[in-house]
Amino acid sequence: MSRKLTNRQTYRHEVLIIGGGAAGLTLALNLPSNIKVAVITKDNQSEGSTYYAQGGISAVLRDDDSFESHIQDTLNAGGGLCDEDAVRFTVENGPDSINWLSDLGVPFTTDQTADGRKTWHLTREGGHSQRRVIHAADATGKALETTLINHARHSDNIELLDHHIAVDLITGKKLGLKHNRCIGAYVLDKTKMQVETFQARFVVLASGGASKVYLYTSNPDGSTGDGIAMAWRAGCRVSNMEFMQFHPTCLYHPSAKSFLLSEAMRGEGGKLLLPDGSRFMQQFDERAELAPRDIVARAIDHEMKRLGVDCLYLDISHKSAAFIRSHFPTIYAKCLEYGIDLTKEPAPVVPAAHYTCGGVMTDLNGQTDIENLYAIGETAFTGLHGANRMASNSILECLVFARAAARHISEVSSQSHPWDKIEDWDESRVTNSDEEVVVSHNWDELRRFMWDYVGIVRTDKRLQRAKRRVDLLLLEIEEYYGNFRVTADLLELRNLAVVADLIIRCAQQRKESRGLHYTLDYPDRDTSKPPQNTILKPETND
Ligand SMILES: Cc1cc2nc3c(=O)[nH]c(=O)nc-3n(C[C@H](O)[C@H](O)[C@H](O)COP(=O)(O)OP(=O)(O)OC[C@H]3O[C@@H](n4cnc5c(N)ncnc54)[C@H](O)[C@@H]3O)c2cc1C
Repeated sequence: MSRKLTNRQTYRHEVLIIGGGAAGLTLALNLPSNIKVAVITKDNQSEGSTYYAQGGISAVLRDDDSFESHIQDTLNAGGGLCDEDAVRFTVENGPDSINWLSDLGVPFTTDQTADGRKTWHLTREGGHSQRRVIHAADATGKALETTLINHARHSDNIELLDHHIAVDLITGKKLGLKHNRCIGAYVLDKTKMQVETFQARFVVLASGGASKVYLYTSNPDGSTGDGIAMAWRAGCRVSNMEFMQFHPTCLYHPSAKSFLLSEAMRGEGGKLLLPDGSRFMQQFDERAELAPRDIVARAIDHEMKRLGVDCLYLDISHKSAAFIRSHFPTIYAKCLEYGIDLTKEPAPVVPAAHYTCGGVMTDLNGQTDIENLYAIGETAFTGLHGANRMASNSILECLVFARAAARHISEVSSQSHPWDKIEDWDESRVTNSDEEVVVSHNWDELRRFMWDYVGIVRTDKRLQRAKRRVDLLLLEIEEYYGNFRVTADLLELRNLAVVADLIIRCAQQRKESRGLHYTLDYPDRDTSKPPQNTILKPETND
């Protein structure tokens, strides 16, 4: 394909935000209106995990709930690894963040009290000892994302640029300058197929998680860990990447990418079945299908590997057709689209990578190891989730840390430095690829071996196998990257390989099973020493 070359453009903004989900847009909207901001997104404006969130956002919003209770629930879920300061900070800033969203007009579902007052309707989810999950029917993320986009579109200081994918961060060190501040990013404009320079005084990584590194995921295609990989290449520490959360039941169908079959189906009597129609969950946990998420995911994975099959089944057809249609209207309709009638037959399911607990290490202001570089949302590791994320704490984290980073940037923005000179992206030694098949092949291979060897149940041997393969892929991809013009697919593959490597290395370092990391070689927690985060430092490559 020949590419039209136009003049290269250099953009200058006070703040460059890479990602326009809950985290990125919240930050943009909380900066003062005299600060010029660019929010870039690599696909359509709304595409990202935020848009697909169903359940809601946790916060202490009732008199009979308390900060201490939310904190304790989060610590319990986190398997001894939560940072208590980060948990307290998040929980205590929760109600203000929700009020801010409500003031913006997010249509949260309401209830009426006996005396006719309107209150928010709150649900209770796994791990929460109270009703504290605020939601907009069963499409909270959509309501949130569209409200935030709408406000950003009407803010004179915010420029929204979609189909722009960040390639790499620009730091003083990279340019051989005396300082090592982050001063921008190279960004591929996917429409022009041209890499442009985005210069900024502050850069924020709000690019979501990395679940796409696995063959099966509940996440949209863009969850390729770009922010984590870019920060790592720029010299930031990354932590706890072994803690990837898997959702037990994603619909297994070639066209039904990322569709979740809600846990409520098991709650209402849905049975998990092997291909021969027999139940198996009771052999793994006395609560059978009602065991916690990670136990169910692990059991399904175990049976799939034991039998060498591609999926298992979730069956609720013993309930009446009327019950199924009224309780699960969306799921019923979606399955029917794929030729599966839940009132008559079981649905094929696989567990799917759902949430990245680890990420770029930050402080409570979202600041990373590099001056003027921030990371927020699923890209960041703040210490909130520890070894396992509690349901609905993730959007809360996006909101609280985005607002904190906005406050911090506003405070320090007056101490600005002169603009450095940045060279244009150099394409003088590369050509258009004549071997795109390398990208698609490596993309598939990576996601398959991550699923098989670094998935829900790990062993030392499986991790070693995965490490050998990822080392080879990293070499091949770097060679390819050095020779050919960049494309969005290549950039994502390059980032996925970096993130896969980080996950494997973190998993290899953890010689115990804790939270979401389970290994047959060390099936118990290591109680001989205090629980520790797995921290990777780029300089030492360890
Ligand atoms: C199906 C599903 C249901 C969920 N339900 C809930 C729930 O009920 N409650 C809850 O708290 N959490 C839930 N989660 C998790 C939660 O939605 C996410 O953790 C959260 O929305 C992440 O927000 P974010 O802003 O960090 O990233 P995202 O919303 O994923 O946004 C990432 C943004 O970064 C952009 N981007 C990425 N890479 C680049 C790049 N290289 N260049 C430019 N732009 C880039 C993308 O285009 C996008 O705009 C759910 C997740 C899924 C997938």
